[in-house]
Amino acid sequence: RRIIIAIDGHSSTGKSTAAKQLAGHLDYVYVDTGAMYRAIAFHALSSNLVENGSLDKQALIAALPGLAISFKLNPDTHKADVYLNGTNIEKEIRTLEVSNIVSPVAEISEVRAKLVEQQQAMGQERGIVMDGRDIGTVVFPNAELKVFMTAAPEVRAKRRYDELVQRGDQVTYEEIHKNVLQRDHIDSTREDSPLIQAKDARLLDTSEMSREEQFELLKKWAME
Ligand code: C5P
Repeated sequence: RRIIIAIDGHSSTGKSTAAKQLAGHLDYVYVDTGAMYRAIAFHALSSNLVENGSLDKQALIAALPGLAISFKLNPDTHKADVYLNGTNIEKEIRTLEVSNIVSPVAEISEVRAKLVEQQQAMGQERGIVMDGRDIGTVVFPNAELKVFMTAAPEVRAKRRYDELVQRGDQVTYEEIHKNVLQRDHIDSTREDSPLIQAKDARLLDTSEMSREEQFELLKKWAME
């Protein structure tokens, strides 16, 4: 029995790490839907559709048909990298600049419709772990296992900060903390597919859990 596993939750809760690990363990496909929203946000930035932090939504909607997002396995990292129109942009999408514009991009219904359709098509192949914000509520409402991950905002900001500093990015804890709170707010109050816990999702608060503990629990749930 190969199932669909939906992992949703707030930003920097450890969703992608846990989802990746679980997919590897089960020999399932892992799909990072945040990377798809980030790819569109990256396009908005690199084609100058953002001015003084404000996004030209109409121009972005007009550009959507020309944007093709795909994933390809990176043999060095054993993970799938995200590509935009054939160019690997895996590194470019993880910056604070992209994080600051991605939630306004994800509010656009046309963006969501395009990406949700692509995500549902990927689910045709069973044996998938998909992480995001609306996987258990919108993309796969019939997923066999749904998990909603959360953690205290300060814990999440610290994790993201450590990650970016390790990459060599020049950031402060305060700006990361602000971005985490801002994205929480936009993601949970937007009109189209707001971030909410699906009724049948299991709650996983990772504030005081190690990665190993999270993994053990997820494995157990996936076996039930
Ligand atoms: O998961 P990650 O933090 O990379 O996602 C970046 C942003 O993309 C989120 O803050 C959210 O605004 C948006 N997103 C979304 N729906 C998803 C995945 C991500 O709206 N399924």
